[in-house]
Amino acid sequence: MQAATPERLAIYPGSFDPVTNGHLDILDRALHLFDRVIFAIAPNVGKHPLFTPEERMDMALAASAHFGDRVTVEIFKCLTVDFAKQKGATAIVRGLRAVADFEFEFQLALANRRLAPELETIFLMPRGKYIFLSSSLMKEMARLGGMLSDLVPSNVEQALKDKFTQTP
Ligand code: ADP
Repeated sequence: MQAATPERLAIYPGSFDPVTNGHLDILDRALHLFDRVIFAIAPNVGKHPLFTPEERMDMALAASAHFGDRVTVEIFKCLTVDFAKQKGATAIVRGLRAVADFEFEFQLALANRRLAPELETIFLMPRGKYIFLSSSLMKEMARLGGMLSDLVPSNVEQALKDKFTQTP
């Protein structure tokens, strides 16, 4: 009898403050490579997030529901590599947009490799229309009343509108 193939599991960590269509594009690509992906939300208080980790988790959950049970969403407060190991993941997925992302991501990947050589970081590139998309840009556009459709999921667009009508 053949041994069952072990599940290929990756984590996709980030602030996701809030999740954008660029993040979802990367998640979709990761699902071509892995059986399951955990959308792993880091509180990242140092970045002064607009949304609480729970709000970010709810938005990511709703926005990734169409992927079914191959995607789960979790908040983690420890080192990324420790979270990956706890979950039994073999890889960390990160997105690369323009060249500007490269140096930081390269540093982070090498630091994580030092901490956990058994984990690989996989970089995926989004489709061209998401190359210049970031959560910060979405927040800035929402603050100024810009149209966000096609750039963020509809639940996120609504959450951003609500946030900026509460706090002008
Ligand atoms: P972090 O604070 O960890 O950078 P982000 O939520 O900003 O968290 O991003 C999480 C990951 O998704 C990072 O690897 C980032 O480069 C990537 N990413 C962010 N926006 C996009 C996008 N538009 N297309 C592809 N990857 C993206």
